[in-house]
Amino acid sequence: DLRFDGKTAIVTGGASGIGAAVVDDLAAGGATVIVADLKQAEAEAKAAEVEKAGGKAYAVAVNVGDAEQVKAMVDFAVEKTGRLDYLVNNAGIGGPLAPIGEVPLDGWHGLMDVNLHGVFYGLRYGIPEMLKTGGGAIVNMASILGSVGTAGAGAYVAAKHAVVGLTKAAALEYSAQGIRINAVGPGYIDTPLLDGLDRDTYNALKGLHPIGRLGASEEVSALVTFLLSDRAGFITGSYHLVDGAYTAQ
Ligand code: NAD
Repeated sequence: DLRFDGKTAIVTGGASGIGAAVVDDLAAGGATVIVADLKQAEAEAKAAEVEKAGGKAYAVAVNVGDAEQVKAMVDFAVEKTGRLDYLVNNAGIGGPLAPIGEVPLDGWHGLMDVNLHGVFYGLRYGIPEMLKTGGGAIVNMASILGSVGTAGAGAYVAAKHAVVGLTKAAALEYSAQGIRINAVGPGYIDTPLLDGLDRDTYNALKGLHPIGRLGASEEVSALVTFLLSDRAGFITGSYHLVDGAYTAQ
């Protein structure tokens, strides 16, 4: 089992889906987990669930698209636990679903604020805290759409590709100072993010994965927590797929 005893982890978007699975695994490994989410009540419920299971967790409300709030999130972690060792920049949204020639400008910018700038703000404020204790590890949540495209989701595709690039740039800057930074690219995972899809689209998504099904949040968390752990000590600056062979085609 991977151990994170005595360490502090922030998981953005930790109240639902992939983030919630990462929260569970890190807490089971002994970390104190900061469940950071736009939805405060859901974040509090998740933290309470962790505590009930014998783990240590705090909830904090944050909009990762707002730099000041991300700084406050990092300050909260340090105030409560005295340190920051792990950061999972996981919060993300879907949409706007429209061809590039029709995409609403506010939809484009709104998506970039969360899926790209949110990751940048996490790095911007998280890294200086990690440096104070000699290092740490970060996972940025990209997607298969960080390496391939799909029609009708240009903003999402662009943001996820940018997250992969940002991950490489940050790793080059901080790996020698003890902070490993990687990106993860899940295929379609059965989470509430897919709730908006109609039944036919949802079923069609399964067929895009040669493995014949969607992924589970736990299967993404297994990779994320491995990358955060000391076992992944030589892994930094890279992008790791967990996609049922989606991108192998
Ligand atoms: P989800 O909707 O189940 O969970 C996302 C969480 O993020 C929610 O709790 C939501 O409240 C929170 N959130 C949304 N906007 C936020 C903001 N501005 N600030 C803080 N929190 C915010 O989604 P998920 O499927 O678990 O997705 C998690 C990440 O994985 C996202 O970055 C997503 O792009 C990525 N991803 C998902 C899939 C998939 O198929 N589900 C595939 C590849 C990548």
